[in-house]
Amino acid sequence: MQNPDKKIPVGILGATGSVGQKFIELLQDHPWFTVTALAASERSAGKLYKHAVNWFQQAPLPPRIANMMVSACVPALPCRIVFSGLDAAVAGPIEEAFAEAGYVVISNAKNHRMAETVPLLIPEVNPDHLDLVRKQHYKGMIVTNPNCSTTGLVMALKPLHDRFGIEKVFVVTHQALSGAGYPGVSSLDIIDNMIPYIGGEEEKMQIEPLKLLGTLEEGGKVDFANIAISAQCNRVAVTNGHMESVSLKFRSTVKKEAVVQAWRDFTAQPQELELPFAPNPPLYYFDDPRYPQPRLHRDLGKGMAVSLGRLRDCSILDVKFTVLSHNTIRGAAGGAILNAELLVKKGYHEEQ
Ligand code: NAP
Repeated sequence: MQNPDKKIPVGILGATGSVGQKFIELLQDHPWFTVTALAASERSAGKLYKHAVNWFQQAPLPPRIANMMVSACVPALPCRIVFSGLDAAVAGPIEEAFAEAGYVVISNAKNHRMAETVPLLIPEVNPDHLDLVRKQHYKGMIVTNPNCSTTGLVMALKPLHDRFGIEKVFVVTHQALSGAGYPGVSSLDIIDNMIPYIGGEEEKMQIEPLKLLGTLEEGGKVDFANIAISAQCNRVAVTNGHMESVSLKFRSTVKKEAVVQAWRDFTAQPQELELPFAPNPPLYYFDDPRYPQPRLHRDLGKGMAVSLGRLRDCSILDVKFTVLSHNTIRGAAGGAILNAELLVKKGYHEEQ
């Protein structure tokens, strides 16, 4: 859809962080977007990116990016869209300043996710919620993606909730170290160990799916889904890929074969629109009971697909199963890029 000679200039806020680096890696060679601005804290501003960053991605740092100057996070960047990988401690006012100045802000941070007029978006789940931006008072707009463990869970729930209705969900997560940013959890805390606490994570997992699976009403308000969710979140010694053990209760009797069929049939707007970051298929169900596993399956669909397995009866609720998704790709930078692709494909960036 885009003229390759006329890519849309984009900036990255928090470009030196874990998510910011992933944006740079994933946006390299993007068919629609080109990175024209990098911004981070005052510690990094005024330095060449290669001197400000501790680059720890597998792909080498692209030379063009390495030699770009890092700016402060003020809304005077040469771009129209900014991806935010800012620390939540500072993201709120900075993202608002950019939106007020007319930028389209595509954020990973938690700060604006639950605001009434801000879309909390997974393009396969609630693409219609993008319309909420028309209710915002900014000259630009803010669109958010969910918490990284919420994303995998909701991708698994969406086809089941649409087809059968879900009443209750109990989820236990086993979350990767990269989810804590860099340098994150100290090695002495996590080697030979597991940490049964991730601050604020359980609360996010219990509320964000209700907005994502909610219905956008005519008045432009989201009616939250009526599902009871209980989450327990753990940090484990895996580099990338959040695993989740999920049990759920349906609103009616559902056969296990029908559950697998719903996952295998699932396709959505990003696949129909052939958005560059849309995985096809979006969900993989494995019959092999040893799967999915983080090291083997986190990169399916270039890290954008969600893997499922081990569907079986639950003696407390109805069924239980395992979910795996890549936390810094589908759960962060890749998910945000897919949000931007949907927004651009639908022309929202040209409206304000
Ligand atoms: P991180 O590695 O700690 O990076 C934070 C970034 O914010 C750095 O670029 C840092 O710049 C910048 N920053 C810090 N203070 C600043 C200030 N006062 N002004 C401007 N910039 C400032 O964190 P992360 O793991 O990438 O996470 C970034 C955001 O994404 C967080 O809100 C997090 O909750 C969310 N998120 C993370 C994941 C994940 O898997 N990691 C998944 C989903 C969502 P300097 O280098 O200059 O300090």
